[in-house]
Amino acid sequence: MGKFLEILTSLFSGQKRYSQKKDSHFFKKFLTKQTPYITLLTCSDSRVQSEIFGIDPTNAIFCVRNIGNQLINNLGSVDYGIIHLQTPLLIILGHVRCGAVTAALGDYSEENTAVIGELNGLCIPIRRTLEDNRENFELQVERAVLENVHYQVDLAVRRYRDRIERGKLTVIGAVYDFGNFYGKGFGRVLPVNVNGKKSVKEILERVDKKEKAAWENFLKENFLEV
Ligand SMILES: [Zn+2]
Repeated sequence: MGKFLEILTSLFSGQKRYSQKKDSHFFKKFLTKQTPYITLLTCSDSRVQSEIFGIDPTNAIFCVRNIGNQLINNLGSVDYGIIHLQTPLLIILGHVRCGAVTAALGDYSEENTAVIGELNGLCIPIRRTLEDNRENFELQVERAVLENVHYQVDLAVRRYRDRIERGKLTVIGAVYDFGNFYGKGFGRVLPVNVNGKKSVKEILERVDKKEKAAWENFLKENFLEV
């Protein structure tokens, strides 16, 4: 009980400081309507937070989270961001060392039925890694994290194809590498998929001519082609 009260007190004094730091103008700007420009589907993992993008996520990021960043598990919420709020960007963000993906690669039959139900959605993407060398389980987990991001992007591209074709939506699949697994630096978010395309060449073939140079720069700076 002591520990609980300590956490609660610290949490609410921090919250009070936060509310006092912002003036009323900050809150009034979005009082009647939210106008986010990113729908973010990511894992519930506490090490992954929308602040990693370096912007204030308030009224900018419509965030949907579940274990393993799965589209189907919160389809209504993602639809809400894309169809009602009309964010031009959907980012599907997986992360290294994902506990959900790790669990789905093992035997999770002893979990309760709700957890089993949520993990079952990861079975299709992780099947693509079953041929891998099982001696290195850590590598297999990271492969499965990527396969899951690609799979979730594919589902989103199928669902929102009309919007993508009309240029109203771009779907980005990415991995948050807080372990510097890919050698690009600790804490980097590395895009691995754009509208279902996994290579720079394929992505550039489909972008608007006027935007090609900007895309080239963006991909050169950030894209992880694996
Ligand atoms: Zn996770």
